[in-house]
Amino acid sequence: MKSETNKEFKDCNFFVLLVDCLRADHLHCYGYGRQTSPEIDSIAKQGFLFEDCIAQALNTKPSVTSLLTSLYPSVHKARHPIDVLDPENYSDYQYKKKLKNLPQWLRENQFETMAFETNPHIKKKFGYEYGFDKFEFVGHWANAEEVNKKILKNVKQAKKPVFSFVHYMDVHAPYQVPKKVVEYKPTEGKNVWRTGVIDEEINLHDLEYTIARYDEQINYVDQHIGDLIKKIDEMNSGRNVFVLTADHGDSFMDHGAMDHWQNLYEELVHIPLILRLPGVEGKRVRETVRSIDIAPSILELAGLKPERMQGESLVEFFKGNGKSRIAFSENQSDQRIGSFTVKQKSVRTDKWKYIISEKRFEPKLNSRLLKDLAKWAFKGILKRERFEVFFSNSTIEELFNLETDPDETKNLSDKEKQVLEEMKNKLKSFEEECANCEIEVTEKQTKLDSETEKQLRGLGYL
Ligand SMILES: [Zn+2]
Repeated sequence: MKSETNKEFKDCNFFVLLVDCLRADHLHCYGYGRQTSPEIDSIAKQGFLFEDCIAQALNTKPSVTSLLTSLYPSVHKARHPIDVLDPENYSDYQYKKKLKNLPQWLRENQFETMAFETNPHIKKKFGYEYGFDKFEFVGHWANAEEVNKKILKNVKQAKKPVFSFVHYMDVHAPYQVPKKVVEYKPTEGKNVWRTGVIDEEINLHDLEYTIARYDEQINYVDQHIGDLIKKIDEMNSGRNVFVLTADHGDSFMDHGAMDHWQNLYEELVHIPLILRLPGVEGKRVRETVRSIDIAPSILELAGLKPERMQGESLVEFFKGNGKSRIAFSENQSDQRIGSFTVKQKSVRTDKWKYIISEKRFEPKLNSRLLKDLAKWAFKGILKRERFEVFFSNSTIEELFNLETDPDETKNLSDKEKQVLEEMKNKLKSFEEECANCEIEVTEKQTKLDSETEKQLRGLGYL
C-alpha cells in the first residue's frame, strides 16, 4: 500500500464515464488481440483495472439504475422501457426516508452534480434528473465529440467540486462510427446487428465485418475519452477521479444471438471497470466485483458514509486487502409494451456461475455449431428461424466452471450437485436480502412520447 491511498479525495472532481455496450474482452487491456483502446489502456496502467467486474443487468435502464442507486434491479424496479425512477416512490419502512442515489448524496455534500446523456432510456421523463443539478440530454445518439464539448464547458464553469456522469453511445449498434480512427478488416460486408430478431442469414464473413465495425467504434470513443481526461486534468491540476465502465456488453453469436437482451452469459455481464485516482499507483485486481460497488466507492473517497446501498466500497482494494464478492445479475423483461419475454437470474463467484431461467431465449441451433462459430471455425451459413420460436418457458438450470470453461459451453448442473446446491443457496439468500431490503418500491410507469418511442425502436427495443 502506498501512503497516498490514505489521502483524502474530498477536494477531487469525480467522473463516471460509461460506455454503452462495451464488453470487457474487446479492450486491449483486457486481453483483446486488436489494439482497440490505447487511451483506456494508458488510464488502466495508471489506475486500478478490475479484471472481473459484473453488471447487475444486461440492458441499459436496469443496469444504469443499479450503478446510480447501488441497488439491484429487484429492488429499484426500473427494468422496462416505461419504468420511472421516482425517489418519492422509494421509502424506508421505518424512517420514511427517500431514496438517495449517488448524485443526490454528492449534491447534499457540496458537489455540483451533472449528467450528460445520449441514451433515450435515461431521460428526465423517466426520473433520471434526480440528484443532478444539471441533467443534459445532449442528443439522441450524440457522439463522443459533441458530448465532450458539453462536459468541458460545464466543468469549466463549475463553482464547486464536480460529480459528472457521462453516458457515451458510440459503441452501441448499429456500429456506424462518425470518424474512423483505424479501419479493421473485412471492410466490405453486411452489418448483421439486428439478425437476432428477424429471419435472416448470418455467415462468418458478415459477422466478422460487424465485429470489425464494433471494434472501430471502440477506437473512436477511446480516442475521445483520452482527449477528455487530458483536458480535464489540465483544467483541474489532475485532482480528478475517473471511473470508466459500461452498463453491459454485446453479443456476437457467442451463444447464438446478437445484441443484448437474451441471456446472462459473460459477453453481456462482464464489463470493464477502471478507476484512476490522483497520485495513487494502481494495479490489476483479479477479484470479482460488481457495478453496484461503484457508488459506495465514490462516496467513501468523497468522505461520505452512504446508507441503504446494496453494494460495498472498493476502497479496500486500493489498500491491497479486498476480497471477491458474489455478483448477482438479473434479466427480466415482459411483454407489457411488446418487449421481450425473459426471466433469468445468475449468481457469479470468481470460479462458478449459476443461471436459472424461467423463461429464456433458446436458439434452435446445436451447441457444437454455435461453439464453432464463436471460435471462428464455422464456415457455413446459419439459417435463422423466426424470433417467436426462440423462447422456452420451462425452468432451466445451468452451472459453469469459469476457470476451465470461460466460454460457458459445458453445463455441469447434473455433475456438480454440491456446487449447484451452494449456488442455489446463495441465490436464495440474495432473494431474501432483496425482499427484506428496507427500501420499499412501488413500480411506476409513464407513457412514452412518440419521439422517445421512435428512438427506442431505433435502438432495437419495443
Ligand atoms: Zn446500454
